[in-house]
Amino acid sequence: MYSTDGHFSKGSGAASGKVWLVGAGPGDPELLTVKAVRALESAEVVIHDRLVSDAILAMANPAAELLYAGKVQGQQEEIQEFIFRMLIDYAKSGKRVVRLKGGDPLVFGRGAEEWQRLREAGIEVEIVPGISSAVAVPGLAGVPVTYRGVADGFAVITGHLRHEGNEVDWSKYARVDTLVILMGVATRVAIATELIRHGRPATQPVAFVERGSTDRERVVVTTLREIANGEVEVANPAVMVAGEVVRVREQLLAAAAVNQSSASRIQRVRQSEPQ
Ligand code: SAH
Repeated sequence: MYSTDGHFSKGSGAASGKVWLVGAGPGDPELLTVKAVRALESAEVVIHDRLVSDAILAMANPAAELLYAGKVQGQQEEIQEFIFRMLIDYAKSGKRVVRLKGGDPLVFGRGAEEWQRLREAGIEVEIVPGISSAVAVPGLAGVPVTYRGVADGFAVITGHLRHEGNEVDWSKYARVDTLVILMGVATRVAIATELIRHGRPATQPVAFVERGSTDRERVVVTTLREIANGEVEVANPAVMVAGEVVRVREQLLAAAAVNQSSASRIQRVRQSEPQ
């Protein structure tokens, strides 16, 4: 199809197939990369996660086989093994396989493990980075992860308190200006409690952004104390951002309101102009 682009053209002479490890971005199909769209359009098999929307799957080659490989609580390891096997088997049978993951494939997606296993099996892998929810979802909601004079840096942390058998050491992160926590909805009370215990002010603002980049986006602005007290209701998937940058949102929204009102003034002026 994309004969000008050797990456995706058929008949490259390779005996074995290939796996593209593709990031699908935070949800809005327009936030896919051009490379991701091309890989989807020329895929023969697409193996995707739960976070990938139907609108994005609709962009895949209509003849491609679409396989859902979401994880079920308690069965993650079995399912992950099954995914490794499927990727290897399809690629070995000569197929062009797209492994599609939400956001960026190498940010908490076990993408690097899949890459490793595929390489061990002698399969060619191409990485197609995606826009990670860690930066894009706060940004779209008006929370920049850095801001001159407010936050010099940020950390992206898993909200799973035990990750790969290790406890998350919150003392390591407590002093970072902006904390972006993924997968932290279920554990938010414990996270906020730990952050306060390690010296972050209880009054520090926190934003949760649910379903960022979709038309069902919802933003909850609160404080560490309210979260620690169990007073904050949020639903998955959501990005949690803790830090002073959350206050910048008010300024950005206020600025947007000003712009809007001046835009409507301009419109009114135009409408009142004589015909
Ligand atoms: N690889 C992904 C992250 C996978 S972990 C990335 O780079 O974005 C899954 C977590 O990502 C969710 O629990 C949630 O915290 C976050 N997430 C992904 N998409 C999101 C979205 N559209 N809105 C809010 N949070 C999202």
